Amino acid sequence: MLDIQKIRADFPILSEKVNGKPLVYFDNGATSQKPQVVIDAIATYYQEINANIHRGVHTLSQLATDAYEISRVKIQHHINAKFSHEVLFTSGTTHGINLVTNGFASILKPGDEILVSALEHHSNIVPWQMLCEKTGAILKVIPINEEGELIMETFDALLSEKTKVVTVNHISNALGIINPIKYMIEKAHAVGAAVLIDGAQAVPHLKPDVQDLDCDFYAFSGHKMCGPTGTGILYGKEEWLNKLPPYQGGGEMIKEVTFEKTTYADLPHKFEAGTPNISGGIVLGTAVDYLNHIGFDNIQKQEEKLLEHATKRLLEIEGLKIYGTGKNKASVVSFNIDGIHPYDIGSIIDKLGIAVRTGHHCAQPIMNFFCIPGTIRASFSFYNTIEEIDTMVEAVKKAKTMLS
Ligand SMILES: *Cc1c(COP(=O)(O)O)cnc(C)c1O
Repeated sequence: MLDIQKIRADFPILSEKVNGKPLVYFDNGATSQKPQVVIDAIATYYQEINANIHRGVHTLSQLATDAYEISRVKIQHHINAKFSHEVLFTSGTTHGINLVTNGFASILKPGDEILVSALEHHSNIVPWQMLCEKTGAILKVIPINEEGELIMETFDALLSEKTKVVTVNHISNALGIINPIKYMIEKAHAVGAAVLIDGAQAVPHLKPDVQDLDCDFYAFSGHKMCGPTGTGILYGKEEWLNKLPPYQGGGEMIKEVTFEKTTYADLPHKFEAGTPNISGGIVLGTAVDYLNHIGFDNIQKQEEKLLEHATKRLLEIEGLKIYGTGKNKASVVSFNIDGIHPYDIGSIIDKLGIAVRTGHHCAQPIMNFFCIPGTIRASFSFYNTIEEIDTMVEAVKKAKTMLS
């Protein structure tokens, strides 16, 4: 078992006070906290090897380039990509998805269909809508049931030879539901569709194996997995990345430039125009090392305990309803209390030092499905404790009494 107190000591912010109370940080779904090794690695980069990469022959530039490329290989192994050039550095999930939708603008034809799930974050809805506007492709939605699970019968029925892309999150940010993506990828491939997985909420909890999943694209953010903000990864199968046109034009993504014609660089550089977030890319590797050092088996065990305890304790509160009651769930509890606006609860418990997310969680279609303005979302990380959950439950009870 993990020594949680020892792990908590790795995260300096966890011993801060907020509004005079010890911080209880349950907004890990929005961004995770950072361990000291990650914070230190950012400073070390700037103190010791800061230089632009892939450009200079000078020593620092080579050191920075090496560190950046070593991080890419580390992430390649972490997600089990076949080649390191299938691992593109991005600024986050949103960037990765837009890179793909932009590329598909030159592939899709009017009448082609894109299947998106009803559980998506706005950043995996809006870019596809923009792509449909550009190309005349049609967006179709895989619906959910009352438990917040995707309805597989309808998914099967929506698939046809017209389906060119299927896009779904690995884990829902709003409800915590884990989607049956392996099944969906297999089914989508059977009709010749490409599949993009939004892995933003999965990577903090598990180690995705992109070859085993056989997905065509897998996008995630660094900041939700103990890494710096402004970092992320887009994994793409080599054949797809070769097929897609570059996203942005600029330095670093070219082979040769003349005013008559420019030829593009090989993968991964074709998709990495301009000076990237060098320190961020390197330190994302540090974060991946940190998580692997803790161990994803240990992370999952701890998070399962937290989820079970939170679910049980919260349901003691009369009038409390949990959204996303499917069996296969990550450590997220999204809930409301009868007749009370989620914002009001969130504000009161914030005064008690407890950070939760309230609102639609960038997933308005889900809130519309349940006919609610939003929920209170407590999302747990391996560094959270049972005692913190009890503190939250008491705070929610207090808020309920004050508000009813
Ligand atoms: C956070 C999140 C995103 C967006 O990630 P950014 O880091 O803001 O680009 C996309 N999808 C899901 C499921 C998310 O949780």
